Amino acid sequence: MSVRYSIVVPIFNEEEVLPELYKRMSALLDTLDGSAEVIAVNDGSRDHSLEILRDINAKDPRFKVISFSRNFGHQMALTAGLDYAQGDAVIAIDADLQDPPEVIHDLIAQWKNGYDVVLAVRSERLGETIFKKFTASLFYRLINRLTDLKIPVDSGDFRLMSRKVIDSMRLLREQHRYMRGLSVWVGFKQTQVQYVRQERYAGTTKYPLKKMLRFATNAITSFSYVPLQVATNLGMVFAVLGFLGLPIIGILRLEYGEAFLGGQATTLSIVLFMGGVQLIFLGIIGEYLGRIYDEVKRRPLYLVGEFIGFEQNSIPLKQTGPLSYLEADARR
Ligand code: UDP
Ligand code: MG
Repeated sequence: MSVRYSIVVPIFNEEEVLPELYKRMSALLDTLDGSAEVIAVNDGSRDHSLEILRDINAKDPRFKVISFSRNFGHQMALTAGLDYAQGDAVIAIDADLQDPPEVIHDLIAQWKNGYDVVLAVRSERLGETIFKKFTASLFYRLINRLTDLKIPVDSGDFRLMSRKVIDSMRLLREQHRYMRGLSVWVGFKQTQVQYVRQERYAGTTKYPLKKMLRFATNAITSFSYVPLQVATNLGMVFAVLGFLGLPIIGILRLEYGEAFLGGQATTLSIVLFMGGVQLIFLGIIGEYLGRIYDEVKRRPLYLVGEFIGFEQNSIPLKQTGPLSYLEADARR
C-alpha cells in the first residue's frame, strides 16, 4: 500500500498568503512519493481566508478545511489538524511560508530512516525583528531550564510526526496545550533537520506580544512546577534571614540604643517588599489554579463550524466530550 501524508496548516487571517501557499504546496504534493491531504484549519479568520479555502477545495480536493466556530488559537488549530489527519506521517507547518514547504522532503527522508518525530530546526532566521529573536531565544533557554523536556532551541511547530506519535498525542487532551512540548514529551525516536526560516510571505504576524506571553506561560505551566517551588525556596531564605535578624537586632539595640533601625521608612519598605513578593506568588499559584479550573470544566478543546472536503465517516457526529474523536474511531 502506498504511503499517505497529511499536512496540517493553521490559518488565521491569511488571505494574502493563501494563493501562494496553494501554489507552493500543490507543486510539492505532486513531487511526493505517496498520496497526500492538506488539512487547513481555519481558526476563526475574520478576512476572506475561508472563502479562498473553499475555492481551493473545489478545484483541488486534496485540500480539506476544518473551520472553527471562532478563534481558538494556533495550538488548538494544530490539535484539530492532528485529530483529523489520516496520514501515516503528518507534517505541521505554518501558513505564512516562513517554513518552506520544500523542506518537507528532508523531513520525510528522516521519517523513512525510521524516526518518529522529525523537528525542523531554524539554522537562520530571515526577516525577523531583533526583539522576536531575542524573546524567542530567552524563552527556549528558560523552558529548557525549567522543564525536563529537551526541546531544541529554535524549533517551531514545523515538524513531521509518525502515526504512532499522532495517536499518542491524540490521547493528550489538556486544555492549555503546548504542542511543541507534547510532541517531544511522547518520546519515540526523535531527530532534527536544519532549515533557513524565511520571511513571512505577506501580511503581518498573528502572534502579538500578548499571545506570545500567554503561549510562554502555558508552555511553562504545562511542563514545570518550578515557579511554585521558587516560593518555598524564597520563603526559607526570608525565614532564615528573619530568624537570624532577631538576636542580631537585639544585640545592636543594646549596643547603640533605641535609634538603631528605628525608622518607619525601613519598616514600610520591608512590608511593601514582602507584600509584593507574596502577591507575586499568589499570582503564580493563581496561574496554576486557573488551569486546574479549566481542566475540571472539561470543555471541548475547539468547536468546528464546518468541515469542507472530508468524507462523512471521518467526522464525529457530536463534538461534546473531549474524547469524542475516539467514538468516531470506534464507529469507523
Ligand atoms: N495562527 C492561528 N491562530 C492564531 C494565530 C496564528 O491559527 O490565533 C496561525 C497563523 O495563521 C500561522 C501560524 O499560526 O499559520 C503562525 O502564526 P504567525 O506566522 O503569525 O506567527 P510568527 O511566525 O510570527 O510567530
Ligand atoms: Mg510566521
